Amino acid sequence: MTDLEAALRAHEPEPSLASDVPIEWGRYASYRELLQGFALREREGARLSIAGRSVQGEPIVRFELGPETKAGSALVLGGIHAMEWIGVESALALVDSLLADRPARRVVIYPLLNPDGYRAAEANLRARRFRFVRANANGVDLNRNWHTDWRPRKPFYQRVFTFLGTPGARPSSEPEVAAVTRELDASRGEFVRGTSLHSFGGMLLLPYGGRFGRPPDYDALHAHARGVNARLGGRYTIRASSAWVPGQFAHGMELDDLHARGISPILVECAWGQLSLWRPSTWLHPWRWFNPVDPEVQATRIAAALRPFLLDEP
Ligand SMILES: [Zn+2]
Repeated sequence: MTDLEAALRAHEPEPSLASDVPIEWGRYASYRELLQGFALREREGARLSIAGRSVQGEPIVRFELGPETKAGSALVLGGIHAMEWIGVESALALVDSLLADRPARRVVIYPLLNPDGYRAAEANLRARRFRFVRANANGVDLNRNWHTDWRPRKPFYQRVFTFLGTPGARPSSEPEVAAVTRELDASRGEFVRGTSLHSFGGMLLLPYGGRFGRPPDYDALHAHARGVNARLGGRYTIRASSAWVPGQFAHGMELDDLHARGISPILVECAWGQLSLWRPSTWLHPWRWFNPVDPEVQATRIAAALRPFLLDEP
């Protein structure tokens, strides 16, 4: 029995989310359906491995597609934050795109870095609990736990809004982050492009997140982001991550860590979600703030827009 089969056996079949929650919440996969989707893509030819285990023992799934030659590889991270499910869907849409049309470069994809958070968000959806979840099972924000510019002290807004999570005891203290940094530590400059798929507002974020100013390659990164934005219809805002909340730095972000390792990264806030002034049912429902009604349409668009950037394809 493979690790993935063992994980599937540990989770009883449940009604699909589409039948369990009102339809306007979207047609998203339950955690168990995600595991089934991972197994299906392995059968279709994506090279699957388990890079680590989450705090609660769930597999950190890693896909590899394209040639085995490592030089010029791309890295894709999805699902770092618990409720940003459209990022997971977009990572899987990239896997599907690369299965359908084989890339000339190697692409490594971690579609779901926070499985425990995903499961917590799912449990809230099923129980009609309108709760905000972001961190992993240790209460650590997995996007503040990376080596570059990591700080032990929570930024001001995370001390006020405690549900946003802590930075962790030290960089890579969390097994979900360590699963990726182990691979990056062992790599020898073979990763050249990268993306991390989030979801809050439509934005393409560039380094730095943890310090003032712009990196020397900012103009080149901005040109890549403009290309991605053009393929998305030009509706996204491109900015340095530290300008997201002016005066508030995000220390220990994946974006800065990938960049410090010589990777050209773009953090994608995939979608606008369903929050609407005109629909009061969305006001107090945090999960809906992050996720559009139709994940398939948006995920396919995001994957198609990112592919030329990641693979240096025309
Ligand atoms: Zn996020």
